[in-house]
Amino acid sequence: MKAVKFGGTSMSTADSILRVAKIIKQDRDRRFVVVSAPGKAEGEDKVTDALVKVSEACACDRKAAFAPVRSRFERLCEGVGLLGLLDGELDAIERNIVQADYCYILSRGEYLCAKLLAGVLNYSFIDAAELIRFNGNSFDDELTQDTCKVGLKGKLDVVIPGFYGSDENGRIVTFSRGGSDVSGAIVARAVDADVYENFTDVDGFMTCDPRFVPHASVIDVLTYKELRELAYMGANVLHPESIFPVRKANIPIHILNTFNENAIGTKIVPTEEFLSGKHVRKNNMPITAIAGRQHFFSMHIDKSLMNSEVGIMRRVLSCFERYGVSVEHIPSGIDSVTVVFSAVDSETTNKLIEEVKMEVNPDHISLTTDISLIAIVGHGMKSRPGTAARAINRLSHANINLRMLDMGASEINLILGVSDSDFERALKALTGEFEV
Ligand code: ASP
Repeated sequence: MKAVKFGGTSMSTADSILRVAKIIKQDRDRRFVVVSAPGKAEGEDKVTDALVKVSEACACDRKAAFAPVRSRFERLCEGVGLLGLLDGELDAIERNIVQADYCYILSRGEYLCAKLLAGVLNYSFIDAAELIRFNGNSFDDELTQDTCKVGLKGKLDVVIPGFYGSDENGRIVTFSRGGSDVSGAIVARAVDADVYENFTDVDGFMTCDPRFVPHASVIDVLTYKELRELAYMGANVLHPESIFPVRKANIPIHILNTFNENAIGTKIVPTEEFLSGKHVRKNNMPITAIAGRQHFFSMHIDKSLMNSEVGIMRRVLSCFERYGVSVEHIPSGIDSVTVVFSAVDSETTNKLIEEVKMEVNPDHISLTTDISLIAIVGHGMKSRPGTAARAINRLSHANINLRMLDMGASEINLILGVSDSDFERALKALTGEFEV
């Protein structure tokens, strides 16, 4: 049995909603459906963005701000042949929003969309507020497992809104934007699905960013670990938190394209072991994908005898912690350490430098503000010597200066730092080298 999630683009027009209904009905295993709010369509805002505007309007202007959302759902109902289906719901929401808080208002896109699809499919609607629980604003995993067990027991053929749940007082709480992916994963685990199908508007995860590398292709199988590395480097087909619920239950995720039935999509499997058997990879290359992000800063700190000074690393990092700056990599030498972090404003940068100077009294400290990081990711690296050598050689042949190198002990990720100005050339050179 499958849990399926359809994203905003899939739900954006009456035609696409009917297409979604057809896809669901094509496979009788698709019994639990989670939906996003309708996304951008010709001349129309993403519903959640329109709802943000409603929440920002003062109480007396909210009804007017809600009018485009109301009209969009009325037209969607008409387009799928269910004229007037949501009138009562829309009236109630229009009354409630005058007093309602941000999360309630934001969640109504998913709520209405799930009601609409349930009507089209003739499935039952179950409100996410009854299933997904928050403790204050934090997702409460344990409680959610209990409420889902009760709420979904004996149920089949249901549509559930994504993106939100409720706290112990019944107040609606949303995940961060894009959070319907997380809701889908929670439902997949709750019903112990064989697979979590995530329908979107792309064919799957790409071996590299096609904006920079036009010949990039779709990855057929990825492991959760590889996905995390790639997502962190900016490959964001899925909400980053969405893998955790299904990972715990060893449920594979299958990314599929609502608008391209011929695309086989990307399967994300729990462990390396799944790479054999029915999930075997198309090509047996050492590298699965290459991803990169620009605009990092690196702070280089030199101090004689640094290697024997106990606690110096902790003191450096505590400065970053105090300013809430997350540290990405810490390549180090005997008497030096480099801290790589995402670009921050100049005020924070200056304060950080002063703080590090005070804390560790370095001989020299310098800052570089044009670093790009490129991650070469793949389980195949483990068993094959020479991957790092090939990467470095290739950059050297392309006359690209390598400014940082980091390889974790997990051996599935090699991080290379180059200048922002070399970023695109480096991506092209590396994808050429590893044929991804
Ligand atoms: N509708 C929400 C958003 O736009 C959640 C989602 O689509 O997953 O962020």
